[in-house]
Amino acid sequence: MGNPVLRRVADPIPPDEISSAPVQRLIRDMLDTVIEYDGVGLAAPQVHQSVRIVLLTFDPEEGFEVWINPVLTPTTDETAVNTEGCLSIPGLRGEVRRPAGVHVTGYDHLGNQFERELDGFPAVVAQHECDHLDGVLYVDKVDHHSLSFLEEWRRFRTTEDQD
Ligand code: ZN
Repeated sequence: MGNPVLRRVADPIPPDEISSAPVQRLIRDMLDTVIEYDGVGLAAPQVHQSVRIVLLTFDPEEGFEVWINPVLTPTTDETAVNTEGCLSIPGLRGEVRRPAGVHVTGYDHLGNQFERELDGFPAVVAQHECDHLDGVLYVDKVDHHSLSFLEEWRRFRTTEDQD
């Protein structure tokens, strides 16, 4: 947090460049990074590339999905509060209220268009990661009274908060 690249609106990838060597190399580098840091998602600006690529996993056994130029639309007026953290803001956790469901369109790592409906935790990850593409961090949306150092969050959160 503090690097201007995290606050920029990232550029779309022209769909006919998705299969190019530089884009495929960036995707591989992002995959190595998110696995090394044990994250559930990573956006290209977090590795200082201002382009619209995110990697996310909703089930570690199934590996990571690659979304290129994703467009999110809330599918409900309902909202949900979840605890979030961010690899670019280490050592903090906080509660964020977001739409409970989203519709996603975009391109996968092969350049195929896809469409998804997500709710629950996957909807949270999707919104957190795609916010990075618009220069938005979860601390912009966090309930400030909930913001905690990771150590205190682990120590003081009540049992019903535990995931
Ligand atoms: Zn993040």
